[in-house]
Amino acid sequence: MRALTETEVREAFVNASEEELRLLRLPHDFLLVDWDYLDFFAWRDPSGAKRGYVLMQEDDRVIGVVLHASGPGRMRSGMCNICHTMQPGNQVGLFTARRTGDAGRRGDSVGTYICADLSCHENVRLAHPLAPNEVRAPGQVDMRLDGTTRRMENFVGRVREPVP
Ligand SMILES: [Zn+2]
Repeated sequence: MRALTETEVREAFVNASEEELRLLRLPHDFLLVDWDYLDFFAWRDPSGAKRGYVLMQEDDRVIGVVLHASGPGRMRSGMCNICHTMQPGNQVGLFTARRTGDAGRRGDSVGTYICADLSCHENVRLAHPLAPNEVRAPGQVDMRLDGTTRRMENFVGRVREPVP
């Protein structure tokens, strides 16, 4: 995705309340983010609050979604629904996002299990490392990340889906 400024990040959120935007903290390494390498940008609020954020590029627009981590993870290990990596129970958790528009005002939300630190991008690579003889050219599509990106797109889509 293209590089974003802090202002662009803050203006991207489609389901955030004013209070949430006020409390939003960027990751400590925001200025070091390697945007070229990312298909989406996700992080936990560094304040330790039970919030996380996902940003995705949709054509020229950037769409941001605020996530709420609900409670501790499951006791047993579980699979992240975004990157499909198996994680110990405390490293995968249920995240919910308030839907946009009327649905959100009625309190409607969507939820899914995601890596607790939201680092699916990293985790999918760690779980499926390249074989020693595999070399990836810069800019080449990474098939393993493809599914992860698609599932994150679907999730963000559900947040924005208009209610019939
Ligand atoms: Zn994940």
